[in-house]
This record gives sequence, structure tokens and C-alpha cells, in this order.
Amino acid sequence: MEQLYSRLETLQDEIVEIRRYLHQHPELSFEEVKTAAYIAEYHANLDHEVRTNVGGHGVLAYLRGDQPGPTVALRADFDALPIQEQTEVSFKSVNDGVMHACGHDGHTATLLGLAKVLNSMKSEIKGTIVFLHQHAEELPPGGAISMIKDGCLDGVDVIFGTHLQAQMPLGEIGYRTGALQAAPDRFDITIQGEGGHGAAPHQTKDSIVIGGLLINNLQQIVSRKIDPLDSVVVSVCNFEAKNPYNVIADTAQLTGTVRTFKEESRDFVEKEIERVVSGTCQVSGASYEYTYTRGYPTLVNHKEETEFVAEVAKVVPGVEAVSEVPPIMGGEDFSYYLQHVKGTFFFTGARNPEWDKVYPHHHPKFDIDERALVIAAKVLGTAALQYMNEG
Ligand code: MN
Repeated sequence: MEQLYSRLETLQDEIVEIRRYLHQHPELSFEEVKTAAYIAEYHANLDHEVRTNVGGHGVLAYLRGDQPGPTVALRADFDALPIQEQTEVSFKSVNDGVMHACGHDGHTATLLGLAKVLNSMKSEIKGTIVFLHQHAEELPPGGAISMIKDGCLDGVDVIFGTHLQAQMPLGEIGYRTGALQAAPDRFDITIQGEGGHGAAPHQTKDSIVIGGLLINNLQQIVSRKIDPLDSVVVSVCNFEAKNPYNVIADTAQLTGTVRTFKEESRDFVEKEIERVVSGTCQVSGASYEYTYTRGYPTLVNHKEETEFVAEVAKVVPGVEAVSEVPPIMGGEDFSYYLQHVKGTFFFTGARNPEWDKVYPHHHPKFDIDERALVIAAKVLGTAALQYMNEG
């Protein structure tokens, strides 16, 4: 492993440079044409066998070691978000309204740098490494599901992936067996009342008043219907009913998100929201439309592989702490890979100890400590090589 570590350290500047280039040129989910071409070219220059347009803009690159052994997939996502960047960095996004505000630029730079170093160690590699570059993680249905349909996991024995965490200290690795990230779903409700003159409410069915009642009634699902030891979120995130000041709303639209870990809670909440919508509208004599759209499944890490990564991470230079972390309510389509092959998804701390204020992921001022990239590469590289050594 010493060779892996020293070569990654030597490559640190190049990895940071790649991250900055990608950061400056972000592309939205399902539109990542140039990013995919950049990744494919990098691997082609290393003489890796490359497959492009995998399930969309996905890119697969294969490094075949000189010795036989298992096939290990390492995954990095590469899409950006519809956010106007507000940082002061020199490599700020040049694409208006698009920003790498989740660290996927860092994931990609990490995996490319690691690919270069592992390529230089081909003679010692016992098996095949699949560099799985995934498009469209941010926008359901996501890129993972279509890449799987297009064969990205064919022959793969195990998969490892990491997410940089701006709120976790640099040097820390976070792992968890079982459910790590929630299933993120979406609901859309249209209330159909009857509009009219603001001075004559008795002749209307006020969609804003009904919507207000509905927002309150929905709060009872989590607080009064779900076991307090089970974590569920129901959030109304948008309420639209624009009218002139003297017009009572004919319709109102409510949109929001549901987060669950258990499939039975997910089924329950989907039905329960409709029951509450239906009841609330019935009281007011209004009608409604309701749609519930399922996002990614809950991300469930496999026990043996999670413990394996937690164990190997402990000896990686630059890693100061390996901690079991609590689950988070945010979704992640790495979950689909784990439904097909064993593996684990872990967090790599990227919080600069000198920053007073840390902006959360998806914030216009989001940033990471770039030293986390080499740490992530070392942990992923160690996991891959160690897994192959143990055959
Ligand atoms: Mn992300």
C-alpha cells in the first residue's frame, strides 16, 4: 500500500486541478455530455478499455490487473445542480445557474487520480477494477438504475463508493452497516375549490384556506401515526395559489417530499397522505388530485463489506478517525447498486478545520477541503487492493 499512498500524494496537485476544472464547468443531471467526454478521454489516455453512453451519459473504464482475481467496482457520480454559485473561489462555475454544490466534482477527480495510480501498479493487481462514473445522481430516476440495466455491474463482485461530507471533519471516515440514507419520494397535490370575489367568501370554496388546513393535518402523520423510533419526514416544500389581492383562490398546488427507511412506512405514508387530503377536501366540499412519485430506495450497506472498509480505513495515512455514523434522511441512488451486488457506501470528511462557517451541501456557497480527495482515493484504493489480495 505504501506505493499507492506515495503515488497518490505525488498526484495531489493534479487531482485538485481536475476537481477545479470540473467545478468550473458543471453540467446538470442528464446533460453531462462534456463531463462524460472528459472522463472517457482521461481513461483512454491510460489505455483503459472504455465504454461510453452507458445507460445515458455513464462511463465505464476497466483496468485489468496482470494477475487473476475478483472484479471490484469503484463508483463516482459527476452531475451538478441548478444553483447559482456564490463562492469567491478562482475556479467558480462559468455556467450560469449551474454549480457543483454537492462535491461530485471531487468524487470524479478522486476516482480519476486513483485510476492513474492503480494503472501504474497493474503488475500487482489481482483482478479487474471497474471505474464506474455515473451521471445524474441528483435527479430521479437517476443514472444508476439505467447504468445497471446497461450492464455496469456485469461480472462485478463488490462495489465501493464514497461521498465527501463538508460537515464532517477532514480526516474522518464515516461508515454504517444497514440503512445509511433514506428513500426520498415526492408528492404533488392539487386542491380544486371554487374561486370568487374576495368580498363574498360564502360563495366560494377557498383553496388557500383548505390548503392551510391540509398543511396542518399532514403534520399528524409523523407525529401521531408513525412509531417515534422509526424516522420519517413529511415536508410540504411548496404551496402555490397566486391571485390578485381581492380574489379567492380557485385552486392551490402543494408539493413536498417524504423520507422513509422502512418499506412498510413508505407504503403507509403514501396512502395516509391521500386519506388526509381526501378528508380535508371533503370537509370543505373541494376535490383534489394526488400523485406520489417514488425516488430512490433506502441505501442499505452490506455488513461484511462495511466492516471491511471500516477496518482497512484505520491504517490509511491521513485518516484520523473512523466512526460509525447515524443514518441521514438524504437520498442517494448508490442504493440500487447495493440491491444487486454486495458493497458499501461511506462518508469522507471534507471540513476544513479553519473554516468558521461550513455551508451545507446544495448551498450556493458550498465548498470542500480539497485535501479530502487524496484521503478518499487512498481509502477506496486500499479497499480495492486489499479485497483483491484476500481473493
Ligand atoms: Mn451528492
